[in-house]
Parts: sequence; structure tokens; C-alpha cells
Amino acid sequence: MGALEIRQIRCRSDNYAVLLHDPESGETMVVDTPDAKAINAELEKEGWKLTHIINTHHHHDHVDGNEALKAEYGATIYGPAHDRDRIPGLDVALKDGDGLSLGRHRFDVIAVPGHTMGSLAYYICDEKIVFTGDTLFSLGCGRMFEGDAETMWHSLDLLRHLPDDTTIYCGHEYTLNNAEFALTIEPGNEALQKRAEEVRRLMRERKPACPTTVALEKATNPFLRPESPEIRENLGMMGVENYRIFAELRQRKDAFG
Ligand code: ZN
Ligand code: FE
Repeated sequence: MGALEIRQIRCRSDNYAVLLHDPESGETMVVDTPDAKAINAELEKEGWKLTHIINTHHHHDHVDGNEALKAEYGATIYGPAHDRDRIPGLDVALKDGDGLSLGRHRFDVIAVPGHTMGSLAYYICDEKIVFTGDTLFSLGCGRMFEGDAETMWHSLDLLRHLPDDTTIYCGHEYTLNNAEFALTIEPGNEALQKRAEEVRRLMRERKPACPTTVALEKATNPFLRPESPEIRENLGMMGVENYRIFAELRQRKDAFG
């Protein structure tokens, strides 16, 4: 099975859409539609015809381009069944454990409630790529708009148990701000210090800090590291469950901005 061709497109102020093209079948997918014009421009540049649109969640900055792109290409729209009334143009409603395909590439649907209750992650089995929307970011995670800390933590815990060499594409480029926050939480983490340096360099060069990997996030993202003795000591929360560490971190990040 030939590898997918992938283009990450920067949209709006800090969103990402991702194009996936399967040369074998000629099928092309976009993950989230923050901006139909930007996505269309990339499709035209590559000469690709959009066949699939998948949405990670219902927020407008992830679905705004659905209807324009569907009108232009007749693409099929896949998204969370939980938000079937809030996903414009939804054709196929998905829930945890469902699957879909792009050519012969198989995608697993993983429910990751917390940012929104309907949030879905999509995992491409043969390529070890996951799309995490606004649930997991590079060095951070999404705000809890609809779920509680225990729910959101469970979702992040699922994602961190994907294979270490899984590539993570996320919904926004927040890495620099996330790095600054992470350094206040775990300043002694050498892998994090190194990563923060790398992220500053990438930003200076106007390059994306995404995608990332499961291994890198487990080593550097404080939201995936509630077991870290340094984090627990800094929070003064030694003998508590992981989700309570997560809850405290999320609260501090909300205040940090
Ligand atoms: Zn969102
Ligand atoms: Fe978003």
C-alpha cells in the first residue's frame, strides 16, 4: 500500500487543516475545514479532487468550510454523531469504535470527549498518524468547554497510549505559548528545555512546530505527565490521582492564557 501524501495548511490566525491524498485510489481527504479558500487553493495547486471531509469537532473554526467544499467537490462529510445537528452538511455520523477508509488506508475513530463532548480523534492504522483536533496540542491540550477533568484526562490518557512513533497532527499552532507555560510547571525537564529552544527557533524561522509525536509529547507535554515527581512537587499534590493533577494544570493554563 503506497504512502499517503500529506499537506498541513495554516488557516485563519492559528488553525491547521490537513490534506491527505492517496495516489493509489486518487482519493483526497481534508481533516477539518477552517477556511475553504485556503484549502481550495492547496487542492488546485496539487490538482487533487476532494472526496472526504472529516471533522474533529463542531466548533466553527473546524467546520466553517464544510458546505463550500462539499458544494465544489461533492465530498462526503464525516463527523461526530454526538454533534450531528451542529456539523454543517454532515453525511456520515461517527462514534467511538467506528472506522472509515481513504483508498485502502483504514482509519479508527476514537472518542476523546472533554474539549467538546463529541470530539473525535482519527487514527490511521498503517501510517501511525493521529488527528487530535483541539483535544491534544503540541505541548498542551484544549480547554474543557463541555467535559470535566476526569473525562478529558481519560481522553488524553487514551491518546498517550498510542504507539510512541505515532505522528500527531493537531488543530492549532499554540506550541510557543504552551512551551512557555510548560516551563513554569516543569522547569527542570531537560527534554522540555531542549524542545522549547527548538520551538523558539522554528517560530523565528516562521515554520510550524506541528506535527509532533507521541514519544515527544510524553517526554515534554505537562498535561501527559501527571506522574512526574517534579510536577507533583511543584503543585504540592503528591498522593493524588492523575486526573486531579491534570485538573490543576488545566486551571493554571486557563489563568496563564
Ligand atoms: Zn475547538
Ligand atoms: Fe479550534
